[in-house]
Amino acid sequence: MNAEPKSMQPENPKRCCPICKEPEDKKYHPFCSKRCADIDLGRWLNESYVIEGSDSPSTSEEDDFTD
Ligand SMILES: [Zn+2]
Repeated sequence: MNAEPKSMQPENPKRCCPICKEPEDKKYHPFCSKRCADIDLGRWLNESYVIEGSDSPSTSEEDDFTD
């Protein structure tokens, strides 16, 4: 019997794609493919765009308070 606590060990020699949890491809580090890299990039751009858009009006209001 081989009682190796594999699932209990957090040690991971291979990194996983943050998008789909597949083993990463060095070419697309840290992703497994260009598709996942594009997904992450699109998500990041979309997030920053939304933050910028919704932050603009509240920032000007706060600026009034700071003064
Ligand atoms: Zn992936």
